[in-house]
Formats: sequence, structure tokens, C-alpha cells
Amino acid sequence: MSEIRYDRMRDTHVIIAPERLHRPDFGTTIENESLSHACPFCAGNESMTPPEIFALRDPDTFANEAGWQTRVVPNLYKAVQIETPYKHHYGMNEYWEGFGAHEVIIDTPNHRTSMRNWNEKEFVDWMKTLGQRVADLRRDNRIAYLSLFKNEGRDAGATQAHSHTQLIGLPIIPKEEREGYVRNHEYFKSTGKSLLESILMQEEEANIRIVKSYGDFSAFCPYASAYPFEVMIGSKKALGQMDTLSDESVRQLAALLMATFKKLERQLGNFHFNLLIATAPLQQDTVGEEVYSHINESSRFSIRIMPRIYHHGGFEAGTGVIINPVSPELAAKLLRESRDV
Ligand SMILES: [Zn+2]
Repeated sequence: MSEIRYDRMRDTHVIIAPERLHRPDFGTTIENESLSHACPFCAGNESMTPPEIFALRDPDTFANEAGWQTRVVPNLYKAVQIETPYKHHYGMNEYWEGFGAHEVIIDTPNHRTSMRNWNEKEFVDWMKTLGQRVADLRRDNRIAYLSLFKNEGRDAGATQAHSHTQLIGLPIIPKEEREGYVRNHEYFKSTGKSLLESILMQEEEANIRIVKSYGDFSAFCPYASAYPFEVMIGSKKALGQMDTLSDESVRQLAALLMATFKKLERQLGNFHFNLLIATAPLQQDTVGEEVYSHINESSRFSIRIMPRIYHHGGFEAGTGVIINPVSPELAAKLLRESRDV
């Protein structure tokens, strides 16, 4: 049983999850694309996972059998799980008893180990699947916040080679996220614009850190990139969140993501990375009515790709200040100039 513990000294939360200790080590999983018989995420091995929650399926195929393009299952080594949320207090301490959702989105039925090689339809299917899960979990008012992320490669913390995405839903909003939404709201209140919109307008005008623009979206290297070759994709318009984006927005994003990964691959080769998809808070009471009522205008949908080329050390752990040896101006120039087809 996991616990979400409150750190009174830092005003933040920590998930203590003993079950995670039993996860398979990456070294014992299969990176070779031709060896998939023992991989729980490959088509044909559906019995090796818990029963599916959702799948994009071919017509006339059955749940927990082959015939899917994407498949969502509970994480076997979950950090949190859905059950009655209960907040405990004792002495100076308070914790939530392991409440939340932890799901694995199996991105593809084939033993593919990298998002770098996906085609546009695979990106579209992936985003539609994430949208379905966000829409479904949004209906559970016990879940205040969703984290959607992808770890690819051992240096990014992945323990399974087969391409997958994770979703963790929590009864609380992590401190940094909560502060970010409040900051976005304050900016919106004083300017009538979202912070990301203003940043993108300035970036497009300067055209120094823009990697590529397509349709309503732009990929750029953020001014204060924490990671070498960090890329953020965002839109100047309010187009909704993961579960409310239009089909056309999803198609544009898929094309831009595919192009961005091709560019990154040309510069970095077989790189490991973390990918985060921003999801605005799901429940009003966690950020207050004022912030929540303007959330789509103030907090834009965005995707952040963070290549893990260097390891962080004590300075980063102690201060939260990250040392990035590659300037975003140089990264953007190299990415812009490298072909993406
Ligand atoms: Zn596999």
C-alpha cells in the first residue's frame, strides 16, 4: 500500500510506494525488436498484463486479445491506486492512503522501442487514446490532477523497452504545478493573454529559438531550457486540453511531433528522453473558482520533450537549479537546420 505524504518542511508531497521496488529491471527486458515473445506489451501477450481499461481496436476483435493499435492497462507496479481516498493525520504528519490512478498506455502492438520511428497515424492514435483516458478520469471528482508522461530509454527512467506512456492521477495538485496555474492566471488577469501565447508571439517574432511551426502550433527551445535540446510544443490559441482538442488540432500536433523527433534524432542519434503533456487541474476546489473558471484561456495545452543526455548531480538535487551545457539558441539553430523528412 502506497502513501502520498506531505512534506511540511518543503510544502510538497512525496509518494512512498513499496510496490515499485519489484519492477523489472530494464536489463532483463528486451530491446531487440525481433525478440518479443516474452514482452508483456506485445500483441499476443495480452494475458501477461492486468485486463485492459481501454483499447483502440479493429472491428470484430475482443478485449484482451490481439487486434489493437493502442491498449491501456493498470500499471502492475503502481505508485497509487483507485480506492476510497482517505487523508490521515498523526502528530505533525499527514498523508493520503495511496489514492489515485496509475495506468500504462501501450503505444503500439509491435515491439517498437522508440517514438522516433512512429508514423503520423501512430501519433494520432496515441493522442486520441490519451484524450479518451483524460476524458474518462475527469469524471472522477476524487482525482484533482493528472500527470501524463513518457520515459523512453534507461537514462530517462524507463524499465520496459516496449514503447509506452504513463498516467498518474492524484487527489492533490503538486506544489509546483499549482503555483504554475496560479501564475498563469495572474498573468492572464493583468494582460488578457495566456503566458504561453505571449512567449510564443515573442519567439516567433525573434525567430531565434523556433524549431518549426505548423498550423496552430510551434515547436521551440524554451529561453531557460533546463535540458540540452529541450523542445516545447504549444499553441498561440486556446484550443482546449488533451481531451477536448479537435481532430484537426490532433493531426497538426501529430505532424509537428513527428517532424520534431526526426530533427532531434538527426542531432542526437538514439537519445533517451522524458516527455510531459500538460494537463490543467481537473477539479475546481484544488485551485479555486477564479483560477479554474479561466483555466483553458490562461493555461494552454503544451508538450515538453526533455532529452536526458547529462545526469544531474547534488547541486541540482539541493538547489532545484539545473545546469544545462547547451544553449537553447544553439539547439534551436541545429534543429531548425536539420531535415525532418
Ligand atoms: Zn514488446
